[in-house]
Amino acid sequence: MPVNMDAIYLDHAATTPLDPRVLEAMLPYFSGEFGNPYSIHRWGRRAEHAVETARATVAAVLNCQPSEIIFTSGGSEADNLAVRGAALAERERRGANHLITTPVEHAAVLATMRQLRDHFGFELTVLPVDADGRVSAEAVAAALRPETALVAVTYACNEIGTIEPLAEIAAVCQSAGVRLHTDAVQAASQLLLDVQRLGVDTLALGAHKLYGPKGVGVLYARAGQWLLPTQTGGNHEEGLRAGTHNVPGAVGLAEALRITAAERETHNAHMAALRDQAMAGVLSAIPHSALTGHPTERLPNHASFVFEGVDGNELLMHLDLAGIAASSGSACKTGDPEPSEALLALGLPRAWALGSLRVTLGRATMAAHIDRLLAVLPAAVERLRTSVAAPA
Ligand SMILES: *Cc1c(COP(=O)(O)O)cnc(C)c1O
Repeated sequence: MPVNMDAIYLDHAATTPLDPRVLEAMLPYFSGEFGNPYSIHRWGRRAEHAVETARATVAAVLNCQPSEIIFTSGGSEADNLAVRGAALAERERRGANHLITTPVEHAAVLATMRQLRDHFGFELTVLPVDADGRVSAEAVAAALRPETALVAVTYACNEIGTIEPLAEIAAVCQSAGVRLHTDAVQAASQLLLDVQRLGVDTLALGAHKLYGPKGVGVLYARAGQWLLPTQTGGNHEEGLRAGTHNVPGAVGLAEALRITAAERETHNAHMAALRDQAMAGVLSAIPHSALTGHPTERLPNHASFVFEGVDGNELLMHLDLAGIAASSGSACKTGDPEPSEALLALGLPRAWALGSLRVTLGRATMAAHIDRLLAVLPAAVERLRTSVAAPA
């Protein structure tokens, strides 16, 4: 069934629509230009040229060398390679067996860290965050040990939109000689991605969060051959990844990133104005509501809330019936009755954390969409509270 044209999509943190210009750039690589970049013949050379051009485009946006760009199957694989690859390599190199991260990471980072703890003998410190979900550089400094192998801090949290003070954290890690990974998958559509300024050693991107295709991502890995590959089988991507390239995917990711970098400020200004309208409107119209995440240090497209005594998943179903697509916490948690770990880490009580709503705007979001949300949401919240409170 086609999506109702009146439907309003406010879930751009889950995924974004493919930019038609990106599709256009990809199309030849699904048909005539089907070569394998590792083949010697002309089909191979043309495919290789396409992948290497894409790599150079990504490197220019990230301000790094093309040889520091590893194409992956998505943001999750990039996070996995960065975290597992650094942890295993640093333990081999100098016996480092301690990892540091935050409770506001995507599962691709947090679950990888926990697997390293539970099955590979690493120790794990999950840092505290403040009520806005910010990690302090002081907390990182206090957690560092001589045997720390890696620190991983997200650039911006997908669930609550908070932007972390990455440059300050990077300074702490650099002076201690400890590697820093950042998950920039959510931030990439809106924030600057200059890895020299950020001071990180690895950074993960995923194309489908920035109007590119699904199933392709990038890991920036600072030069030095210091990561242990976690996928073996071919000597591709500086020896860090096996598998025949997703050629249309790499082309699409590069084009999506190029467009994003060129248009970032225009889209951010547009979305931030509507986001502020959404935040003010929701908080003033709905009693027992609160913003989650930092009030200003947050992604320009991201508004997130909790409502006391409401089931977040029921609220999403109500909104969907009214033609509005949003999400509750992280998309991966749908159907999970447990409150989100990130929301609990902010210190929210369970009865608030279960009633979360994430509204994430996109380039095509209009004021009328926010007006519609504000017309529908207060009554939906009210109804769900009444149904919860009704005696049996
Ligand atoms: C979506 C997302 C991921 C996973 O990226 P995929 O390309 O879907 O694998 C990782 N981290 C964050 C913060 C995300 O928002």
